[in-house]
Amino acid sequence: MSFISVDIGATKIRVAIGDETGIQKKLTRITDTKKDPLAVSNQIIRLVNKLRFDNILSIGVGSIGPIDIKKGKIINTPNFPQKEILIKKPLSEYYNIPVMIVNDCAAAVHGEYVFGDGQGLENIVYITISTGLGGGAIVDGHLLQGKDGNAPEPGHFTISSSSKMVCNCGCIGHWEAYSGGKNIPKFAKIFLNNINWRKSLLWNLCDGNPDVLTSKNIFDAAKRKDPISIGFVNELGKINAIGIANIINGYDPELITIGGSVALNNSDLILEPIISNIDKHIINRKPDIQITRLGEDIVLLGALSLAIKLVS
Ligand SMILES: [Zn+2]
Repeated sequence: MSFISVDIGATKIRVAIGDETGIQKKLTRITDTKKDPLAVSNQIIRLVNKLRFDNILSIGVGSIGPIDIKKGKIINTPNFPQKEILIKKPLSEYYNIPVMIVNDCAAAVHGEYVFGDGQGLENIVYITISTGLGGGAIVDGHLLQGKDGNAPEPGHFTISSSSKMVCNCGCIGHWEAYSGGKNIPKFAKIFLNNINWRKSLLWNLCDGNPDVLTSKNIFDAAKRKDPISIGFVNELGKINAIGIANIINGYDPELITIGGSVALNNSDLILEPIISNIDKHIINRKPDIQITRLGEDIVLLGALSLAIKLVS
C-alpha cells in the first residue's frame, strides 16, 4: 500500500510516493504558476502518473500559505497570479481517495514527529529559514493548525516595532523582515551603513555596492572568516535568538528543529549565535535546538505521515 505526498513551494513542487518506512520515489519540478486555479493540481496528477504506482490510499499535501484547510485550497498567495488554487477537490475527484492539505511547516513538524528527532516527544516546533521564515508546532501531541490552518506564523512575530525593516507582508519589524533569505541582504546593508567595511572580503565580493549582495555572498564570506561578515551573521543570530525565544516562551517545546535552505546550507553560522544569545530572552526551560536531520525532504515526509494518518 502506498501514499502520495506533495510539497507545494513558490518556486518548486515536489511529489513523492511512500509508505510507513519513508519515501520510495520522488520528483521535483518548477511549480506551474500559470493563471489557472487547476494548474497545480493538474501538475500533481501528471507527476504522480510519471511515478507509476498502484494501490494508493491517500494524499497528503504540504503547501505554501495562506491556505483554507476546510475548503482545501491555497488563497491569495503573493507568489501566484490567481486568487485561488484548488487542491483537495480536484485531487480527491481524480483519485477517489482522501486528500489532506496543510501549511507546509505544519506538515514539516509532523514529519519531525513521525520520522525525525521528534519521535516520542509531545511538544515540538519546526522553523524554516529559506526565502521567507515559517514555523509549525506540535503542542501536547496535537498538530497546531488554528481556525484556518495558518498557525503559527513566527516569521510575522514582531521583533521591533521601531525598526527600519519592512516585512514581505508590509508590516514593520517582523522576524522575516530581518531573517528571511530575501531580506538578509537588506538587513546587511543597514548593518554595513554604520561601520567601515572597506577592507573586508565582503567589500571585494560586491565592489563596495551592498545593493548587489546576496545572502549566499554574506554566508560564504563568513565561512571564509571575513570578520565583517561574521559580525553581521552574529547580529542576525541575535534577532533569530529573539524569534526562537518567543517560540519557547509561547509553546514550551521539548525540541526545536530548524530547516530551510538558509539554515541547511549554513548550519553552524545560523545555530551557534542562536544558542549563545537565547538565555537572556527566555523564561521557560530551554529545549534542545538543532538543525533538522530530515533536510529538504522534511515537508514531503510530513505530508506522507499525514496521508498515512488520514486513513489509519
Ligand atoms: Zn510580516
